Amino acid sequence: MSLHIIRHDITKMKIDAIVNAANSSLLGGGGVDGAIHHAAGPGLLKECMTLGGCDTGDAKITGAYNLPCKYVIHTVGPVWHGGQYGEKELLRSCYIKSLELAKANGCESVAFPLISSGVYGYPKDQALRVAMDAISDFLLTWDMTVYMVIFDKAAVTISQKLFSDIKQYIDQAYVEESEVKYSRNRILAEMSTSAPVQYCKAIKPEKSLEDIIGEIDESFSQMLLRKIDELGMTDAECYKKANIDRKLFSKIRGDVNYKPSKPTAIAFAVALQLNLKETEELLKKAGFALSRSNKFDLIIRYFISNGNYNIHEINEALFAFDQNLLG
Ligand code: ADP
Repeated sequence: MSLHIIRHDITKMKIDAIVNAANSSLLGGGGVDGAIHHAAGPGLLKECMTLGGCDTGDAKITGAYNLPCKYVIHTVGPVWHGGQYGEKELLRSCYIKSLELAKANGCESVAFPLISSGVYGYPKDQALRVAMDAISDFLLTWDMTVYMVIFDKAAVTISQKLFSDIKQYIDQAYVEESEVKYSRNRILAEMSTSAPVQYCKAIKPEKSLEDIIGEIDESFSQMLLRKIDELGMTDAECYKKANIDRKLFSKIRGDVNYKPSKPTAIAFAVALQLNLKETEELLKKAGFALSRSNKFDLIIRYFISNGNYNIHEINEALFAFDQNLLG
């Protein structure tokens, strides 16, 4: 179970089901609908003609014909009329109904386009929010791998306000970093001209290497499991909030020396709602740090210091800034 935002052409995805942003006739149209029918071939249209259309907010399933997936789920998104006409509820319903159909048909992986965000005019940042919220709510109760497929990069815009807040935060950190470097270089330059060089005697270690190794600190997986217990969370709550697969979690649970990737380690820090200091402690155990000199780290710092632990919102922001995603 996990939710991923990816840039792709949905018609090329080899998974169980792709979702089509159809119109209520189900007889084909433009945009992603046109692309799906074109790639599937005439068999899809023939089957769609037997379905008697589909209501807005509802979904129907067909075979996939020449497409590399197994099923196509057709859903009809709302046309945007300004947001006061139940658009949000209808759009949410498209995602939930499609996922329920996928579940009923035994699908383990499903890909969605950004429904209603093309010709139907739903503002893209809001459409993505509704999609991510609906899918992540569904995933709390059912295991599935879900992809939000973004066709063109311009289609992903997190809200303008969030984008400019993060950008400002990154720019500010870069300024601070270069100021620190500048003063560090000045100090070093002054030291090299004035300070006499001093040599220290080698200090004899008080403990043997064996003793030191014997006192090894708690590992990444030990700290993770301890935190889960302390917070009274279940394992499932934790890996779901971290957007991590159950299988990967079991691996980590079973291997005291498991070495996660940095995005995985951060995903757990987010799931556990650790503050910055604790996040750095957990990362250190896996051999990583949160620097102030790269965008990925700064975006993570931004969210954690603002107490925003919604992993999908963090991923939307990382995606908007072209960074690796968490989980
Ligand atoms: P709607 O009528 O629901 O607005 P559209 O097909 O016009 O549907 O657009 C929905 C979204 O699908 C848009 O964001 C568009 O960029 C995207 N899209 C178009 N073609 C593809 C494709 N081949 N794969 C994935 N997404 C696509």
